[in-house]
Amino acid sequence: MTLTIGPHVSIARGYTQAGKDAVSVGANTFQFFTRNPRGGSVKALDPKDVEGLRQIMTAHAFGPLLAHAPYTLNMASATEKTRDFARQAFREDLKRLEQLPCSLYNFHPGSHVGQGSETGIHLILDILNSQMWEEQQTTVLLEAMAGKGSEVGRNFGELAAIIGGARFPEHVGVCLDTCHLFSAGYDIAGDLDGVLEDFDRQVGLDKLKALHLNDSMTPFESHKDRHEKLGQGSIGMEAFQAIVTHPALAGKPFFLETPQKAFGDYALEIQKLRDFSKNTV
Ligand code: FE
Ligand code: FE
Ligand code: ZN
Repeated sequence: MTLTIGPHVSIARGYTQAGKDAVSVGANTFQFFTRNPRGGSVKALDPKDVEGLRQIMTAHAFGPLLAHAPYTLNMASATEKTRDFARQAFREDLKRLEQLPCSLYNFHPGSHVGQGSETGIHLILDILNSQMWEEQQTTVLLEAMAGKGSEVGRNFGELAAIIGGARFPEHVGVCLDTCHLFSAGYDIAGDLDGVLEDFDRQVGLDKLKALHLNDSMTPFESHKDRHEKLGQGSIGMEAFQAIVTHPALAGKPFFLETPQKAFGDYALEIQKLRDFSKNTV
């Protein structure tokens, strides 16, 4: 099976160009921000530009693309204004994704800012359950977090609780970020099987729709979120070899959010991971 893998790509020059950029580094998918990750503005879609991306995706047999919500989107905030922005941006993004060849929308569940994770989960569900709809084409993904500050989604139990309370659980899934997992205290380097079994028990591997592959600049269980190039951090390249060749993860799309000097450098990481997967068939 061909590995589905791609980097995070800028859509500043349009969707067609983003598709070309992905192809230029040997990718067959990519992740993009739905809007400025720190702000809120959105450009109107250009149908020709979107059609150009569709053609590239067909020509290069792309797997599913992953859209990433802005970091400022915090559904669990104690401030109504912040939750209003989250509600509006989430809804707008979901609507726009219906027009794009992208079926996965990843967001950080949020930070409960001292209200407690139970209240945080309640606030997140309030927005998910009022803004999602039955016929939507997009699967919304909760990203597993490192557990810095008051982040919600720091363990599989919290992710399961959100999905369990969702009005449309069939449209909700999970994105596992290797850096976040390791920082949260899930030992994917020493016991990948155990972590995946735990996830399967609590959430279900069928709910795992995407993975972010990042090494970590900080030690195990540091609850920090500092991405590193694969093989140059505390997780190590062996773990990434095990991940892209693990039978339980076969067919899942992988996305790189590693810090690179130049965009073209993603080609090296992608090639390495493709080589791993070829050599274990
Ligand atoms: Fe993220
Ligand atoms: Fe991530
Ligand atoms: Zn991160």
